Amino acid sequence: MTAINHVVIVAGGKGTRLSALFGNIPKALVPVGGKPVLQHQLELAAKAGVRSATIFAGFLADQIAEFVGDGSRFGMNITVRVEDEPLGNAGAVLQSLKTLPESFFVMYGDVMMAVDLERMARFHRDHGAAFTAFVHPNDHPFDSDLIEADAEGRVTALHNAPHEPNRAYDNLVNAALYIVERNALTPAPGKQDFTKNVMPGLIVSGAKVLAYRSAEYIKDMGTPERLARVETDLKSGKLDLANAGKPRAAVFLDRDGTLNLEKGFLASQDGMELLPGVGAALKALRQAGYCLVVVTNQPVIARGEASENDVAAIHRRLEWELGKEGAYLDAIYLCPHHPDKGFAGERPELKIACQCRKPGIAMVEQACRELTLNAAASWMIGDQTRDIEMARRAGLRSILVRTGTAGRDGNFSATPDFVADDIRAAADLILEQKKAAA
Ligand SMILES: [Zn+2]
Repeated sequence: MTAINHVVIVAGGKGTRLSALFGNIPKALVPVGGKPVLQHQLELAAKAGVRSATIFAGFLADQIAEFVGDGSRFGMNITVRVEDEPLGNAGAVLQSLKTLPESFFVMYGDVMMAVDLERMARFHRDHGAAFTAFVHPNDHPFDSDLIEADAEGRVTALHNAPHEPNRAYDNLVNAALYIVERNALTPAPGKQDFTKNVMPGLIVSGAKVLAYRSAEYIKDMGTPERLARVETDLKSGKLDLANAGKPRAAVFLDRDGTLNLEKGFLASQDGMELLPGVGAALKALRQAGYCLVVVTNQPVIARGEASENDVAAIHRRLEWELGKEGAYLDAIYLCPHHPDKGFAGERPELKIACQCRKPGIAMVEQACRELTLNAAASWMIGDQTRDIEMARRAGLRSILVRTGTAGRDGNFSATPDFVADDIRAAADLILEQKKAAA
């Protein structure tokens, strides 16, 4: 098992949308925190043991060649290849396969990231993938290239932007960071695109194309607004690799009655209606550094009133509606179980007393493990007493919201740490508490 020690950087981009700020420079040389994005990428790769790079340049390629030189100041051997005509993000790579090693990373030249590349490489190797794509949720899924993957992480379909406004997909965005096995690729002439040509071709051919899900930082800086955000994130330490593996604070969220209108039990996505201000509240919490995780009891599944697929469709709709408001979730955990038997059409195998049904804490424990979260620094927002009781058992601070059931269910007697009118007020409260503690 050898390390992956080569990176291909696709840097032909013109950066038209940034030209008002920086004039005539290629996008890869646009400074972020005073350093070209290309330099950030090369330094990240070098830290992960990558020893050589091929940069595919086009627009103002001489500036890029001059900037990197032979690569020695980055501790790397760097070759700059110049495309005579724009060949899309994959065309030049496919025409140069013979010059590339067996396995390599691919990065687009406008992406800032704090990703543990060695961990991603281990995932790629351990699963024997032909092609691995880094995927994550973001706050603008409607104009992002989206990936559909099965439960094992195998990519089954790609949906490139723009999307139909009312068609909801998983918020699983292709972040433009790949690991590629050269032998899986086929040389092809002319303009080629990783998401439009290469990945669909591999999927059709039966090659193992995997989605690598991670909550690590990765964002493109291709517009002035996105660049400004990345600059802010850089200053606040979000791109600091040293912080990457440290447990983070989260806000756990109940679903019905907290994020969306409580309508009894939701059995279809058409009933998914966000409460006012949810998007803004989640955006503010994320900006403050909180991971956002939904934990929801879905006994409708055990009772046979909705299938796993129905609930997945409801969650796609939820994520899509949040995306329209510029917000996203890191994960949704659900309990499909229900302890009481005696419903027509129920599924006996799910009729169990489980550890995950709130106020059980198995969903919180799983989230803490999978997303590296610090429960003691985290919060729970919910509208039912079982949310508050779960928070008590899991060691989370809790806020009962007056939307939905507003705690009137009376099932458990735990007292919330705070009560707030709705999720907006709850988010304000968390941010105030954070400020007071700082
Ligand atoms: Zn359960």
